[in-house]
Amino acid sequence: MLIGNGWDLHQHTEKEILSLGGVEFNEDGFLGHSDGDILLHALCDAFLGAVGKKDIGHYFPSNENTPENISSTIILNEILRVIEYEKFTLTNVDITIITQKFNVKDKALKIKENLSKLLMIPIEKINIKGKSADDYGIIGDQKASLAIVSLLLDNA
Ligand SMILES: [Zn+2]
Repeated sequence: MLIGNGWDLHQHTEKEILSLGGVEFNEDGFLGHSDGDILLHALCDAFLGAVGKKDIGHYFPSNENTPENISSTIILNEILRVIEYEKFTLTNVDITIITQKFNVKDKALKIKENLSKLLMIPIEKINIKGKSADDYGIIGDQKASLAIVSLLLDNA
């Protein structure tokens, strides 16, 4: 068994629409070199961490080597190739989104359905939790949101 964890934070902007877990929602999104999908970025780092293969910035630096506004679904698929995902069984994924900018509960099912397809696992193996920051700091001020992902890979 290999455990992985990852986190990611981006600032909000009204100039982009929200991409979260590879699903687009018609509300304010994130600033970023890519689409700023905090959930998929944290997920990529969790996968890379589990197999000991550096981090997402190593494969997709925020510069001219990564196409601007690249879809994070493309990034995830490349990371799955890097870690040789087909050799593992993904036991479960536990996701926490800390935000006061948008409602996580309303989006959780759509995101779980999409992740279930992207990761080729049953939806029951994915959990998504929404948390606030108690009105404090950049998250409480709705300036940024944070994703934390833990997962377990079975390499037996
Ligand atoms: Zn990111």
